[in-house]
Amino acid sequence: MSQHFSGSLFMVAAPSGAGKSTLVNALLAQEPGIKLSISTTTRQPRPGEEHGREYFFTTAEDFVARAQAGEFLEWAEVHGNYYGTSRIFVEEQMKTGTDILLEIDWQGARQVKKQFPQAAGIFILPPSIAALEERLHKRGQDEPHVITRRLLAAGGEIAHAPDFEYVIINEEFSVALSQLGAIVRSARCRFAQQAARNVELFAQLGIHAEHAE
Ligand code: GDP
Ligand code: ADP
Ligand code: 5GP
Repeated sequence: MSQHFSGSLFMVAAPSGAGKSTLVNALLAQEPGIKLSISTTTRQPRPGEEHGREYFFTTAEDFVARAQAGEFLEWAEVHGNYYGTSRIFVEEQMKTGTDILLEIDWQGARQVKKQFPQAAGIFILPPSIAALEERLHKRGQDEPHVITRRLLAAGGEIAHAPDFEYVIINEEFSVALSQLGAIVRSARCRFAQQAARNVELFAQLGIHAEHAE
């Protein structure tokens, strides 16, 4: 990652219902120094969702205009709606050393990886398709036809799991959460991240970071 960005970038993807948001929220509650990028979407808010907390909700017209203006680091159409990540938010936070986590689909992850090759990709798998279906129903926040659409799309999302460096199988929640924490903590110890966070120490010790991966 470039010297300008001392924060690490994490991308978490999963088929809908695998437990991505639940895992990410639990991670954020226990791990300081990492923030979630709140995406902009054209999807309707679910019951209980708040503008500016889960998402910035907007119209397709506004979304397209902003995409054309280059406001999004990445954007994609997922399950019939547009979703995009704010470029300025991610870059400003990473410059100040804050780690950023993106909950995005495989299409978005591919776009981010081109711009930030060091971004760590984490794919969350359900223990089975039956468990995925059960979780989507239990969550109880989507209309039946939306659940059907998401289940039909699950195979397509899962087919892209091999693009990601890390895989977590979210069967026992506490195990999956500890694995997610371990990935975040180990990425912070990568040479390039340590060099970017500890510029003076590395200089004092005569370590030349410019050749770091
Ligand atoms: P979830 O699957 O239950 O988390 O449902 P959501 O409606 O929150 O997300 C739908 C899909 O959009 C998921 O595959 C997300 O990974 C994807 N998504 C969410 N935000 C973004 C974004 O900013 N950019 C892209 N490219 N995809 C996003
Ligand atoms: P996603 O963000 O991937 O669509 P959610 O985080 O909304 O998924 O999780 C879907 C549902 O599954 C939620 O109701 C959540 O409480 C439940 N869930 C998440 N992880 C587990 C798990 N390990 N075991 C059982 N249920 C889970
Ligand atoms: P949901 O509508 O259930 O909140 O999200 C559906 C899917 O959209 C999830 O798989 C989520 O990862 C994806 N998603 C959410 N935000 C973004 C985003 O900003 N960019 C991309 N590419 N995908 C996103």
